Amino acid sequence: MPINGIDEEVKLILDQIQDNLLHRAEELLDSSIAQVNSTKEAEKALENKKIVFGAWCATAGCEEELKTKFAIKTLNSPLEQADLKTMKCFACSEKANKWFHFGKSY
Ligand SMILES: [Zn+2]
Repeated sequence: MPINGIDEEVKLILDQIQDNLLHRAEELLDSSIAQVNSTKEAEKALENKKIVFGAWCATAGCEEELKTKFAIKTLNSPLEQADLKTMKCFACSEKANKWFHFGKSY
C-alpha cells in the first residue's frame, strides 16, 4: 500500500471496525430481549436471563404488583415508541400506555 494513501486506508479500516462493533452490539442486544404478552412469559424470559419488553399500562399500582408478585422491575422506556393501538398491559390487561423494558428485581 503506498504511503500517501494510508490516511484513507486507515480511515476505511476504522469505519469498518466501528460498523462491525455496532452490528455485534445490536445483535447481542436483540438476542437478550424477549417481547412478552403475559407475566408468565415475562417470568420465563427472566429465568432465561433475558430483558423483558412489553406493552405496559405504566401505572404505579401495576408496577408495585410486578415487583412484589413477580420480582419484575421497570428498567426504561425506549425513546421511539411503536404504536400501541389497542394493546393491553402484559401484566394487568388494562390499556397499555407505553412500551417498556423490565428486568429481574433482587
Ligand atoms: Zn398494568
